[in-house]
Amino acid sequence: EGVTYTEVRRPGRVMIFVNPQSGRGQALQLFTGHVQGMLTEAAVPYKLFITEHQNHAREVVRRADLSRWDALVIMSGDGLLFEVINGLMEREDWQRAIQTPVGILPGGSGNALAASVHHYSQSPPAWNEELLLSCGFMLCKGLVGTLDLVSIHLSSRQRLFSFLSVAWGFVADVDIESEKYRHVGAIRFLMGTLVRLASLKIYQGRLAYLPAKEKPKLPKGTTKTGHSPSTPQRPSLCSSLPCQLNPDSSTNLISHHNHNSPNSNHNTITNTTGEITTKRSEGGGKTVTPVDSLLPDLDQPVPESWTVVQEEDFVLVLAIYQSHLAEDLWTVPGASADDGLIHLFYVTAGISRPALLRLFLAMEKGAHLSCDCPHLVYEKVKALRLEPVTPHGVITVDGEMVEYGPVQAQIHPGLARLICG
Ligand code: ADP
Ligand code: MG
Repeated sequence: EGVTYTEVRRPGRVMIFVNPQSGRGQALQLFTGHVQGMLTEAAVPYKLFITEHQNHAREVVRRADLSRWDALVIMSGDGLLFEVINGLMEREDWQRAIQTPVGILPGGSGNALAASVHHYSQSPPAWNEELLLSCGFMLCKGLVGTLDLVSIHLSSRQRLFSFLSVAWGFVADVDIESEKYRHVGAIRFLMGTLVRLASLKIYQGRLAYLPAKEKPKLPKGTTKTGHSPSTPQRPSLCSSLPCQLNPDSSTNLISHHNHNSPNSNHNTITNTTGEITTKRSEGGGKTVTPVDSLLPDLDQPVPESWTVVQEEDFVLVLAIYQSHLAEDLWTVPGASADDGLIHLFYVTAGISRPALLRLFLAMEKGAHLSCDCPHLVYEKVKALRLEPVTPHGVITVDGEMVEYGPVQAQIHPGLARLICG
């Protein structure tokens, strides 16, 4: 939409990371059976990298000579792309590195981004091998668009970058509990949902967010909400990032992307510690990743421009920035990879089991918002904070379990680039 493809050229050299354990353990066979021939026919040069353990791809990406690759692609579930994105952002040259186009070939049991990218291409829904073929075809075409990333702060001050979701409560529990049904493939989420429904829980916590549209200013004299005159909104750095980082932010071809990095030899293995090196404080020779201009420190109260949710008893909180949460869960009708929005959903306590099941069943067709469920709330936001009160639980980022505790997030529009269309 609104995109002009100026020139058609073959995509260049592609590094493809395969997680042989993902999904039903058949990612490599799926690659050889369905994608390899396609790439050969389209004369796309690629190199396969089979991961041997968790964070293997992340470590490789962190120290790779990116001038050798025109795209980094994963054949796995969303978890492996999460590693690649964070590996790129942990580099000293992250600003250049994160412009390396990334791509996804669904080989896992959680293929939310693949389903989303397929959906953005305006194709009718596809599953399994059909979805894989669609994504393989996109890789051959090599068109690249921009991808929003979300910066995540955890209470240990660790910072992560996310392309898909932050979840707490029902969705996060299902995601993690259903890992034991991985051998059944994508249907694991449905099985997990049914199991979790049987023992539906309430999760206590505080939720606040910065609405994407500013709250209407109240007339003078009213004091309830709105911006306090004494705390004018800071100018958002993130809104200027896409132009800074992506001089050509329109869709183009990966072959146009050329790493001619004068700094590329600044990255040495000795710099990689396995820990996220980013600090909010600048200087000190540490890698400085994008400033989260919308987020105060986690131990500071949220700004007055934020909305604080009154309810504190939830069944789920889900922040998502792609259309699909899974192949058969069309969670955000109207979302795109670079709409600059976090789509925040929450379900408050009191919802009945049948009503919650209805929501998830309706989500297959993206119809859950038409269920008129009074417990389901949907807001478009730029930043959010979640502070669980329930002492133990699960929080996931892009389907991967992270440290449990207070978490906050803000969008960075168009920070990365994605093979799509
Ligand atoms: P799935 O959708 O099947 O869960 P993911 O791509 O999300 O597939 O991978 C699941 C987890 O496995 C992720 O945490 C990923 O980092 C990790 N992982 C990657 N490579 C390997 C490997 N070779 N062996 C074990 N785990 C791996
Ligand atoms: Mg996964």
